[in-house]
Amino acid sequence: DPQTAEQGQSLLRRLTDQGYEGYFVGGCVRDELMGRPVNDMDIATNATPEQVMALFERTIPTGLEHGTITVLIENEPFEVTTYRTETEYVDHRRPEQVQFVRELSEDLRRRDFTMNAIARGIDGEYVDPFHGIEDLRNGIIRCVGIADERFEEDALRMVRGIRFASVFDFEIEQQTWQALLNHQALIKHIATERIRVEMEKMIAGPYPYHGIELLLSSGLIPYMKVDVPCEKLNLDLLRSLESLPSSPLVLRWTLIALALGMDEQQIKQYFKSWTFPNTITDQASKIVRMNQRLYDGIVEQESVSLVENEVVIESTSSIDQSYVRFVSCVLDYGKEIAQHWRTLYAVLSSTQQQRLSTIGQQADSWLEQLTIYSLADLPIKGQEVLEYVKIPAGKWLGELFNEILLVVATGQLENNKEAILHYADQALVRKGLR
Ligand code: ATP
Ligand code: MG
Repeated sequence: DPQTAEQGQSLLRRLTDQGYEGYFVGGCVRDELMGRPVNDMDIATNATPEQVMALFERTIPTGLEHGTITVLIENEPFEVTTYRTETEYVDHRRPEQVQFVRELSEDLRRRDFTMNAIARGIDGEYVDPFHGIEDLRNGIIRCVGIADERFEEDALRMVRGIRFASVFDFEIEQQTWQALLNHQALIKHIATERIRVEMEKMIAGPYPYHGIELLLSSGLIPYMKVDVPCEKLNLDLLRSLESLPSSPLVLRWTLIALALGMDEQQIKQYFKSWTFPNTITDQASKIVRMNQRLYDGIVEQESVSLVENEVVIESTSSIDQSYVRFVSCVLDYGKEIAQHWRTLYAVLSSTQQQRLSTIGQQADSWLEQLTIYSLADLPIKGQEVLEYVKIPAGKWLGELFNEILLVVATGQLENNKEAILHYADQALVRKGLR
């Protein structure tokens, strides 16, 4: 369940009833002012972590050393953080140590951008010492305080600024942008994983292309720990980012890698270096491999047609070949990857798309028509086939199962044990193994 405004209000009420201060702060206030869906309601208070823990029945000391306590209201977690400042930034990163302070305004001062430094109290009153509401209204990303100092303290803020400009389609205020250009090189101190978190939010947003343009002109990329080879960047392909669904995000990242001109092996490496989990890396490489297999198949078919001096490339038999190749991919990589390929295909460059159009246009109905999608859907195991045919196990068994999978999936063979064993028998005779 999402948090509700009532739960947040009741939390603030409990704090204020006991004589403490309590405010909504940061992203939730900003998003509410913008009329966007509110995700996490963060709360700031002058109560110490110990006082917060004493005040609520159910608390988890999630970030005690940063002053953050998670308070559960009707099973919904809220982060309640004691007013604090950050001092002594080491290596241009946010510090491990913080100092608690007494004033809300001091807490707001440590925040990155004016629009993220607004607090809202229980009666809806705003505390906005840096005029974040005005900047929000004008669509401006502006550092709190002196931009050069703020980026020097914590270089991740440069990427955050670009992320917010991209997601909201905002302008970065001139001095903030100049400071960003001045401190480009400091981004080398920031862990790739933290940059990726910001990048993921940017890529998932409505204007990822705009964000990448900003990133390119910021000069940050060459200083990042991760190697982003922009020399061969295909801007046309990149422009179609916004035509791809933002979920699952792997689709957009895969398109970026393709726009960078990467092959499957490079994409694997690229995803790894961005510290993506293996599951995501695996998905991306499967989507690309599937695309390559289908594409190579078509090119091969075309060259065969040319040799045979055929003018018509799309003969009936070539459709059959495409169909078999597509189904083999589905069975190898799974239905989900095939659907992802189908989605990605729609925005590929026009030459690739043209060649793959027979497959692309029918992929949905082909997927629909398949009766099964993987070995696990067969009602029989290798052992049973071995016992039935009484031939020692060998390479033939795997090949036979792939064949069975294909004929069952395409509806040429019934998906029951008897039919499959009978088919196995005949196939072995055909192969001369029996
Ligand atoms: P999102 O909607 O993506 O969560 P957010 O603004 O809430 O955006 P968070 O990373 O959740 O971003 O941070 C919460 C708040 O903490 C921010 O609004 C900002 O006030 C402050 N903050 C976060 N990161 C930094 C930073 N690197 N430097 C200064 N303040 C920061
Ligand atoms: Mg947040």
